[in-house]
Amino acid sequence: MEPPTLTAAPQIDEVFSAQRIRARAMRSEPATRRKNRIGSIGKWIKANRTAIHESLYADLHKPSAESDATEIIPALTEVQHTLAHLDDWMKPRKVDAPVTLLGTRSVIQYEPKGVCLIISPWNYPFNLAVGPLISALAAGNTAMVKPSEFAPHTASLIRRMVEELFTPDEVMVFEGGPNVSQKLLSLPFDHIFFTGSPAVGKIVMKAAAENLSSVTLELGGKSPVLVTPSAQVSMAARRIAVAKFINNGQTCLAPDYVLVHQSLFSSFIEALKNETLRLFTENGKSLEESPHYARIVNQRHFQRLQHLIEDAVNRGAAAELAGPMNDARNFMHPFILSNVPENALLMQEEIFGPVLPVLTYNNLEEALQLINQKPKPLALYIFGSDKAEHNKIIAETSSGAVCVNDCAIHFLHINLPFGGVNHSGIGKAHGFYGFQAFSNEKPVLVQRKGLTTVSFFYPPYTQKVKQLTNWLIRLF
Ligand code: NAD
Repeated sequence: MEPPTLTAAPQIDEVFSAQRIRARAMRSEPATRRKNRIGSIGKWIKANRTAIHESLYADLHKPSAESDATEIIPALTEVQHTLAHLDDWMKPRKVDAPVTLLGTRSVIQYEPKGVCLIISPWNYPFNLAVGPLISALAAGNTAMVKPSEFAPHTASLIRRMVEELFTPDEVMVFEGGPNVSQKLLSLPFDHIFFTGSPAVGKIVMKAAAENLSSVTLELGGKSPVLVTPSAQVSMAARRIAVAKFINNGQTCLAPDYVLVHQSLFSSFIEALKNETLRLFTENGKSLEESPHYARIVNQRHFQRLQHLIEDAVNRGAAAELAGPMNDARNFMHPFILSNVPENALLMQEEIFGPVLPVLTYNNLEEALQLINQKPKPLALYIFGSDKAEHNKIIAETSSGAVCVNDCAIHFLHINLPFGGVNHSGIGKAHGFYGFQAFSNEKPVLVQRKGLTTVSFFYPPYTQKVKQLTNWLIRLF
């Protein structure tokens, strides 16, 4: 596939001004206009499925079935769910009055925030740009989208989609790297939706603070897996291997490290090795020949991962599963390491590649302490059948989400809010929660005519007012 050509120098300021004007006009548009825009994205995705596959293959060597499952189906789910529910979401929501405001009528009205910025990463480059765009449009906003420069084929395809479906004052895509991001971030957006690393998340939040733009930050982190004594080992190994090694481990929700109960260690390692090889190879082909296994996005990440493995091995880690690497093709075999010391770089930073440390624990307190001394992760996974133990783990840890007896699939559940907590993110996405992130929840209160409850408390503060206040306080 030919590398994409970049757009001519984008007129960021001009587009921003045009979108400001358009955003004002869009505030009073009916739901049907919003639904038409979203419906057009759904139709475009279906009509261009092969082009999406090709771009994702060119950028990440993604197998087409994996692109369907992790990029196209989630985007289409967002389209379908939004079309089905948008009328309800847009309806003003009635709320009851407290005793001090009896006689008033109030609603919460969802208004568009205005002009929004979406900055997206390279690992699921289609869905992580288009998903937030659907939410932004559902909430009635205009949007400027900056996809990742490290998935250039997909970035240019998203630009083509947007150019075919929207005018620049509705939606516009700006290709490029940090320079383009930073130019965009200097503008007073009404909302910024960023998906990427915690390090860049901090840069985005600082820039947003200058304009007091609201932010949604969808970040990453070290998502742990607990394999408890009651776990079914082969099932746990299979599900962990899928979530860890699809997209070559470059998934924000991938299991980052496993804590397995000492009693299951040997059987778990054996099952994990077997499942990993079984899942990603076919007909005795090597993993490098396998059509089911993706690639590392670029040389920088390839070298970063090589360094993480070397550092862990130099500090005494043992390779339970290892294999060839081909830096010319960014091919990296899955690595499963045991005995990884806590001070190894692998245990300090998000791995984001096909390397999985498997640690052991003897008592749960020890495992919870290790999890809790790290920044709050995007997800926490538990394998086991002991509900009391699950409840204890859920209560005593904090994470963006918990998934029991599987990994990462909660991303696909459109009725669940998706996002992290503190270091793994701020704010939520998907379905209604995405609509909410791009909306201002505006309270509208209508007071009655004539006598009102609050008027009993007006100054001058006579004895009667004070008696009434004392009576009211006794009610609480
Ligand atoms: P990244 O933070 O390097 O880049 C993300 C975006 O920010 C890109 O568009 C990039 O051009 C831009 N950017 C990079 N440096 C910038 C700077 N200095 N100023 C302004 N913008 C800048 O992330 P990535 O490498 O593309 O993606 C990997 C990270 O994203 C991982 O940490 C992963 O966990 C996280 N992630 C999170 C989610 C989620 O939904 N929570 C999903 C996917 C990826």
